[in-house]
Amino acid sequence: MAFVVLASVSCGAREPVASPDSMTETAATSSAAPVSATVAASPTPSPTAPPKFSAKVSRVARDRVPYSWQSGCPVHLRDLRLITMTYWGFDDKPHTGELVVRETVTDDVVTVFRKLYDWRWPIKQMKLVDAYKADDFDSIEADNTSAFNCRRATGSSNWSNHAYGEAIDINPRENPYVTASGSTAHENAKKFTKRPTKGKGVVNPGDKVVKAFAQVGWEWGGYWSGTKDFQHFSKGGG
Ligand SMILES: [Zn+2]
Repeated sequence: MAFVVLASVSCGAREPVASPDSMTETAATSSAAPVSATVAASPTPSPTAPPKFSAKVSRVARDRVPYSWQSGCPVHLRDLRLITMTYWGFDDKPHTGELVVRETVTDDVVTVFRKLYDWRWPIKQMKLVDAYKADDFDSIEADNTSAFNCRRATGSSNWSNHAYGEAIDINPRENPYVTASGSTAHENAKKFTKRPTKGKGVVNPGDKVVKAFAQVGWEWGGYWSGTKDFQHFSKGGG
């Protein structure tokens, strides 16, 4: 079931916010800053409180997935959904991100990401993989959290769970794909190949993030034997 939660205060770069002239000098220059900073005429009881979690679910327009979806993919475009939702950033501020998933798992995904936001569990960034022309390596290199991508599983001719919109990679730099011999293809992820590891956005065995996904039937790639995919959560595993 799709639903919409409207927040009175939003943030992120998607919608430019007009600032009153009197606020021009103090208006936030970073797109990541809470826009509540521009509200001066009518102060709220708690002006520093971040916006509540919000998620908007919509159909996916063809031009939003020019690289990640083609005809012949195992899930039709009409069965995918775009989730536009708040996430807590590495800069300790709320942001708005986007994920494309299969319609059937939309509620599961929103349930988990609502918890992550309420916990202030940090996510580096959340853009569609099309921002990287659906290049998985480039998306990972940018530490981008993403879901749908019509591609084959790493090292396999089979479709990845990402091709079904039923897998999400979270903070892939801090949570790399690590071979059985302990290596990663990403230089910037080398210090994150072992578990447990301390660090912002790191997923460790038994973490509440792993449990939140488990409660909706999603399994963690960090529990695989041999190769470990610490960034990878998928419905039913695999
Ligand atoms: Zn994955």
